Amino acid sequence: MEKKFEQLLQKLNAIAHIYSAQAVLSWDRETSIPPQGVARRAETIAYLSGLAHELCLDPQFEEILTELHTAYQENKLTDEQSVVVKEVWRDFNYAKKLPTSLIKEFSETCAKAHSSWAEAREKNDFSIFSPDLKKIVELNRKKAELIGYKESPYDARLDVFEPGMTASELSILFHELKEFLVPFLKKIQEKNATIDVEKIKGHFPIEKQKEFNKFIAEKLGFNFNAGCLEVSTHPFTTHFHPEDVRMTTRYKETDLLEAITGTIHETGHALYEQGLPQQHFGTPLAEAVSLGIHESQSRMWENHVGKSYEFWEFLYPEMQTRFPEPFKNIPLDEFYKILNNVAPGYIRIESDEVTYNLHIILRFEIEKMIFEGECEVDDLPEIWNQKFKEYFGIDVPDNAHGVLQDVHWSYGSFGYFPTYTLGNLYAAQMYHHAQTQLLSLADELRAGKTEPLLNWLRKNVHQHGKKYSAGELIKEITGEPLQSTYFIDYLKKKFGDIYRI
Ligand code: ZN
Repeated sequence: MEKKFEQLLQKLNAIAHIYSAQAVLSWDRETSIPPQGVARRAETIAYLSGLAHELCLDPQFEEILTELHTAYQENKLTDEQSVVVKEVWRDFNYAKKLPTSLIKEFSETCAKAHSSWAEAREKNDFSIFSPDLKKIVELNRKKAELIGYKESPYDARLDVFEPGMTASELSILFHELKEFLVPFLKKIQEKNATIDVEKIKGHFPIEKQKEFNKFIAEKLGFNFNAGCLEVSTHPFTTHFHPEDVRMTTRYKETDLLEAITGTIHETGHALYEQGLPQQHFGTPLAEAVSLGIHESQSRMWENHVGKSYEFWEFLYPEMQTRFPEPFKNIPLDEFYKILNNVAPGYIRIESDEVTYNLHIILRFEIEKMIFEGECEVDDLPEIWNQKFKEYFGIDVPDNAHGVLQDVHWSYGSFGYFPTYTLGNLYAAQMYHHAQTQLLSLADELRAGKTEPLLNWLRKNVHQHGKKYSAGELIKEITGEPLQSTYFIDYLKKKFGDIYRI
């Protein structure tokens, strides 16, 4: 069996090299490709995808994997081997159950839908996008039937991004959260707090901002010998290997926080990738657990650390020295309130820690309704606007600020949105637990020391790769399954203090 496992590792290694090459090409496309190179690049990337897919479905690969899977079922493998075989088997089966013709039809439909979505958004006309969206839903439902699911066809979608998560489990967590958030947001609004967010706008040369953002990423523990921080339209993180992790942020000359928030968020993702065990490269033991757990890492650094009073006690004087205008005349207390200002708006990506999750819950409820046949695609704008009014208390002015704002559905990515809020829930539960074990965490952040927290995450999350599922991991770390209470308590305390409620 050892020999068979070695053979499997060799095959996985070959596939991993293709994925790395593909990731390098995609990174280059997002950060520095000349405009005329874009079309050819898409062809090269598609070619490499096909090559990886062929290797996965190679009969010899299947033979080795099937034999190892039988050994796994008979408990003949070591713990580490079991994780690898179980996870690779899962992916292999997923790929095998979907006919190539369906995958092709799906990617062609999405390519078309992406243009019709962009046009619909620009012209503010949902009917331009709805025929393609209907097709995407239909194909996704077909996929769900082929793959199989527990109770709801939406479970099959969730399983792609958050393996093991179900619509009914999410419904409970998100319902509890919504029951808290809607009245809490009302209370904040009734306070009519005067927070002048314009005060921190100014003129901040991009080169100086770049230096400052590198300083912050390094402070958080990002290893610049094993990665870099560049610029792109939408911040993202990619990795070729734990020793080569690339991330981006975006700079605005008038607003310092735009880049800082993006940098800290992406650093959280990147620290996870840099912390995966490199000796297991190419296998699930060196892969992130799920999108929700990945997002928990970015959200923990972005919000629990990067929007905390303690951390800014350290960072604010540094920022005041580097950018005296306008910060030298703004006390930290006031800056902290501006940083954490809560203001309901239409656009998800511009929202704060309180309202963000209402944006996600709204999308989750709609996706679930569509997949469970409770509504039609044509009804989406109306349902969206009704729900928005109910949760945020404001009317959506047009579909571009409503149902058409996000790109995800045009990519076919139903089931993706919930992982953002799951990330917040995992992060809050983990951070609460970290605080009970790292008793001087607040003082360390005040001193700009982030190693204790990073080491805690390395030990409890990063080093395990996919050893545990997301549900098992949170239980392993905190002793209980995922709860909404930790996040609710965190919001209550933080924003209760800021808004005195
Ligand atoms: Zn993220």
